[in-house]
Amino acid sequence: MPEGHTIHRLAQDLSRDLLGQSLSVSSPQGRFEDASRLQGTRLIKTGAVGKHLFLHFETAVVHIHLGLFGRFRRSKAPGPEARGALRLRLVSDAYVWDLSGPTCCEVIAEDARNELLARLGADPLADAANPKPAWERIQKTARPIGAVLLDQRIFAGLGNVYRAEILFMLGIHPEMPAKNLAKREFNALWKLARELLARGVKEKRIVTRPAVKGRRLRREEALHVYARRTCEKCEGTVRRWTLGARAIYACETCQPQRQA
Ligand SMILES: [Zn+2]
Repeated sequence: MPEGHTIHRLAQDLSRDLLGQSLSVSSPQGRFEDASRLQGTRLIKTGAVGKHLFLHFETAVVHIHLGLFGRFRRSKAPGPEARGALRLRLVSDAYVWDLSGPTCCEVIAEDARNELLARLGADPLADAANPKPAWERIQKTARPIGAVLLDQRIFAGLGNVYRAEILFMLGIHPEMPAKNLAKREFNALWKLARELLARGVKEKRIVTRPAVKGRRLRREEALHVYARRTCEKCEGTVRRWTLGARAIYACETCQPQRQA
C-alpha cells in the first residue's frame, strides 16, 4: 500500500501540473458519478493528510484513498486512449492524470471531511504536526508498538515498510507493548518518521539507508530490514511474521524483547 510519502508527493505533482487550470474531468469507467459535476472547473488546491488525498475544485472537494491497488499515471496530453478501469481522468492543456483502482474517489462534503480529519492521528509530514496526542495514546495501550505504528488514528501516513525500518533503526522489538516506550524513544521515533517520510517525498520511494555519493541506491540497498533475510548489523536471520494483519520483519538480536 502506498505510504504517506507517496500521497504527499502526488499532491505536489498534481498541483504543479494542474493548479489554477480549468480541467476536463471524467470517469471513463463510470464509477465516479460526480465527475460530470466537476467538468470544466478549476483545481484550486491539493492537499494530503496521512494516506488521504484531497483535490479542491472550485465547486467541490474530491477525496481519494489509493488503498492497496490504487495508482495514478501521468502522461503528456492528449494522453493514451482511456482503457481499462479508469476511475478518474484529469486533463489540462499539457497533461493527463489517470487514476485507477482506488479504494475511494468521491466528492466529500465539508462536515464529512472534518470528521475524517478528526479521526486521523498526527501526520509526520504536516508542517504543524503535533505528536502529543500520539504520545498520550501510546502510553495507555499495551498493543504491540508494531501494530500501533500502522494505526492511522495514532500516526497518519506511516505504513508497513516504514514501521519495520523505524523499529529496526531504533532497536525496538515490534511486539513490545506500546506503553513501554520511553519518552526519549518516542521523540526519536517521531523525529525519524519525519525525516524518513520527507526523504521519501523527495526521492519518490522509501529509502532509509545512508545515501551513497554519486549514485542512486539500488532497490535492494535502499532498506535496512524490510523483506530482507539477513541482518545487516549482526548477520543473523531476519524474522518475518504477521503483526497488525501485515508482514513485519525484524532482527530479534538487534531488536531484543525487553523484560517488563
Ligand atoms: Zn541483527
